[in-house]
Amino acid sequence: MPRPERPQSYYDEIKQKFREERNLRLDFRPPGTQQYTSEFTGDLAKYAVDPFAGELPARDPIADEVEVLFIGGGFSALLTSARLREKGIESIRIVEKGADVGGTWYWNRYPGVACDVVSYDYLPLLDEMDYVPVNHYSRGPEILAHCQAIAKKYDLYDLAVFNTTVTETRWDEADQRWHITTDRGDAMKAQFVICANGTLAKPKLSDIRGMTSFKGHSFHTSRWDYDYTGQDLEHLKDKVVGIIGTGASAVQIVPELAKTAKHVYVFQRTPSSIDIRDDWPTDPNWARKLEPGWQGKRRAKVLAAVENSLEKRAAKGANSQEDKLRRQENANIDYMMRIHRRIDEIVDDPETAEALKPWYMFMCKRPCFHNEYLPAFNQPNVTLVDTHGKGITEINEHGPVFEGKGYELDLLIYATGFEVQLTGIYNNITGRDGQDLSDKYADGIRTLLGIHTAGYPNLFIMGGYQASFQFNLTEMLQTQGDHIAACIDYVRQQGYETIDPTEEAEAWWVGEVVSHRGKTSRSEDCTPGYYNFEGSENRRQDGNYNGGFRRYYEHQGEVREAMQKNFTFAGKTS
Ligand code: NDP
Repeated sequence: MPRPERPQSYYDEIKQKFREERNLRLDFRPPGTQQYTSEFTGDLAKYAVDPFAGELPARDPIADEVEVLFIGGGFSALLTSARLREKGIESIRIVEKGADVGGTWYWNRYPGVACDVVSYDYLPLLDEMDYVPVNHYSRGPEILAHCQAIAKKYDLYDLAVFNTTVTETRWDEADQRWHITTDRGDAMKAQFVICANGTLAKPKLSDIRGMTSFKGHSFHTSRWDYDYTGQDLEHLKDKVVGIIGTGASAVQIVPELAKTAKHVYVFQRTPSSIDIRDDWPTDPNWARKLEPGWQGKRRAKVLAAVENSLEKRAAKGANSQEDKLRRQENANIDYMMRIHRRIDEIVDDPETAEALKPWYMFMCKRPCFHNEYLPAFNQPNVTLVDTHGKGITEINEHGPVFEGKGYELDLLIYATGFEVQLTGIYNNITGRDGQDLSDKYADGIRTLLGIHTAGYPNLFIMGGYQASFQFNLTEMLQTQGDHIAACIDYVRQQGYETIDPTEEAEAWWVGEVVSHRGKTSRSEDCTPGYYNFEGSENRRQDGNYNGGFRRYYEHQGEVREAMQKNFTFAGKTS
């Protein structure tokens, strides 16, 4: 049956409500991204401790040279290394803060951890690994095991160093090498350095008054303390647990806590949109019939397809730019209202149901998918503490306080997220002429494809700004990894020592990024969150390339087709 046409006034009223909810939140938190802290020193140092590392193995400082050095050992490093090995590169080192490879999947081991991108698309190198995921959506442990299997297959453990944080990455013009120092006293050299330290890697805490006075136990979701909770959360049977934040991590954790904890308080500032998550075990008959190269074909299809999003479909047949925008917005609102109806159908208490409704456009925040999150609020041991956009602003020795009411907790879990896409800026990266990368970026980020930046030869950045940000991040990272491997191979094949983008190529790309970001005010209109720098003003170039994933991929190819125009090369040996 066709959906009844709604008058435009219906949509306009909802848009007005979106604006009100956004402004309410902006008024509560003028400091934008400053409201968070990720400097875990002093009383906060315990939030950075790696609970999975065990005892730190002693080792002597390393002072050697490798051809390619990765800062970070997550998917970026793994999938790029596979391509580098295919091109015959033998000397590859991963330097990783954790005690193993895996990145996100090393750190995030909270109960219920899973990925809600379809596993056959999310897990990289399935053809190369000859592996078919167990379920339609992979659980965290399977993904971590896949990371470890990749590292084994490509011999990446041989030179890898773990429990090690890079402290400085400095270009030495005299010997045309990067000099890398670490917190373990290492002084390594590398011809090529790849910043692969993750898009959402550094945990952050909401900087809440009195938080260090809390006398109970507390940790961040990415440092889950199973010693305290028990492996199956069995130690929480007599514990009152609070969780601050209702993003994608909390959405997976709350249903697990609800199964065992004596009581769970969920402290909400902005609700997530929760859609259906249908999962099933991989059909063995389907898996058996898969032909070699099946994942590559799947990926090629994605890259070849015209991007046909909800918004693009809705805009079809529009007769003006204004009409197109209106249709897109209305389609977005229809989606969000379906999310609202789903809440009404599932959540028994009308007040709780109302509080769980997200009032913003689809994709203003990362959409979530879960079948047990909403029903958890029907359990007598789960209470939603809705802070109406304000958030928790005070914690005392017993727990959070909201509107004068204290919540006495045994355990407080911070599900407050991560620093976003600062991958290229950590580690004090110093390029030619002693220029610090943060200083270069002081007037705005400048890169070519989000990967190269002029004055930093042989440095490649993965998952940083000015690249295309994809819902399926590994797909984007694989294109970057392929591109980087092709660039390094070119340098070797041509007998050069260094590759550095030209200022012109960089200026062209910054222009591309700016032109696409200027097309709509969508990001500014959104409720604050990490997608829009918490609603704070930011320079147009300090964000992602919004021209679409397919165009981003095509641009990579175009850049490589004109290597001599887009880069300067030096040190030809023959
Ligand atoms: P997010 O940044 O998405 O969420 C942080 C949460 O903390 C928000 O709900 C935020 O509210 C809330 N918050 C911050 N300060 C306060 C406060 N003072 N009082 C109350 N609430 C507060 O972090 P996550 O770890 O949940 O997710 C990060 C990203 O990791 C995801 O967006 C996703 O990309 C990825 N991820 C993917 C998963 C998957 O595949 N299913 C699972 C988990 C994570 P507000 O919204 O108002 O800012």
